[in-house]
Amino acid sequence: MKILVINCGSSSLKYQLFDMDNESVLAKGLVDRIGIDGSNITHKKTGSEDHKVSTQIPDHKVAMDLVLKLLLDKDHGVLKSLDEISAAGHRIVSGGDYFKESVLVNAEVLDAIKKCIPLAPLHNPGHLMGIEAIQHALPKMPNVVVFDTAFHQTMPDYAYMYGLPYDVYEKQRVRRYGAHGTSHHFVSLRAAEFLGIDISKIKMITCHLGNGSSISAVQNGKCVDTSMGLTPLAGVLMGTRTGDMDPAVVPFVQKALNLGPDEMNNFMNKKSGLLGISGVSSDLRDVEEAANKGNARAKLAVEILEYGIKKYIGAYTAAMGGLDVIVFTAGIGENSASTREGVCKGLEFLGVKIDPAKNNIRGKEAIISADDSRVKVVVIPTNEELMIARDTKRLTA
Ligand code: ADP
Repeated sequence: MKILVINCGSSSLKYQLFDMDNESVLAKGLVDRIGIDGSNITHKKTGSEDHKVSTQIPDHKVAMDLVLKLLLDKDHGVLKSLDEISAAGHRIVSGGDYFKESVLVNAEVLDAIKKCIPLAPLHNPGHLMGIEAIQHALPKMPNVVVFDTAFHQTMPDYAYMYGLPYDVYEKQRVRRYGAHGTSHHFVSLRAAEFLGIDISKIKMITCHLGNGSSISAVQNGKCVDTSMGLTPLAGVLMGTRTGDMDPAVVPFVQKALNLGPDEMNNFMNKKSGLLGISGVSSDLRDVEEAANKGNARAKLAVEILEYGIKKYIGAYTAAMGGLDVIVFTAGIGENSASTREGVCKGLEFLGVKIDPAKNNIRGKEAIISADDSRVKVVVIPTNEELMIARDTKRLTA
């Protein structure tokens, strides 16, 4: 069974074609700058070199047609007929509180995704264009939508409510929704499988640390709290985002710097975080390098990041009344041994003990805690696309 996984942005289309008989990737690629001058496609058939195409791509329908043509191409393709694709799975950033799990696309589902546009104004419109494009190209093929928010829908109300007047929740749906749910779900399942333990009996904290970072408390396989909020700005320090702060900082800085609400939003999302503190870069590799050379602000940025993650681990251990497993994933979690060590240092009182030699790995599944550590600490590379393909298979097979 072949499944096409699609992640559409407002001007981009990422795709991966899976053979779900063995969960292998047959081909993948990225269409960039849709509707903007200089659009191009980078396509890769597994085992072959990247194939680049530069051409005018005015909209998502044209982009999708070009992708399907590439999948059929005699040199770069992997299909003889488009009928071989059984279904498509789409990544959707926000399903608000309409969707608690992945679902098959129908008119009602599309309508609900539209209703969630205010919660993800930069993402949901692009996702809808992607669904429309493939429905146009392959009208008989089923589509499944997989939401970044769905895994977090099991949070109790006292974890997702803000202390605003209740009306704001009822009328504007302002609450914590979280993000990266597909990743937290994938790594929590995989960590339990990797460790050979029953997920329905354990308390786990999953740390998805990338350009955007979020931490989740996963109790007995269900998310009970997560660090991102109404938007992905909340939680720990990120590449260019502030993470948590006193909400009164917002009007204070707006007044002091004479910024409008959109400018302030941009300031907090694009100019802050590792970049804003260090003044060096939003990329942790650059910040770590500068810190190692003695740059004090770069060192401070690293310390804020590690301290923030550590505090979430403490808070979520208290929330769950214990802790059995910590999972690190995404660019930083999978690759930065020093961040993992910095986060876990001082958590020995919780039963967390890192083995520095075991921690000296990058980008692969591994147990990095010492043999006598009560809490198992693991690195699990995330794979959101595979999770989307699995859900799509389950709902359409
Ligand atoms: P995104 O959220 O955009 O998907 P990623 O999950 O790819 O991002 O994570 C990007 C982050 O991972 C960057 O901050 C990058 O510096 C960091 N990263 C990648 N490799 C390393 C490494 N070897 N050491 C430290 N940080 C790394």
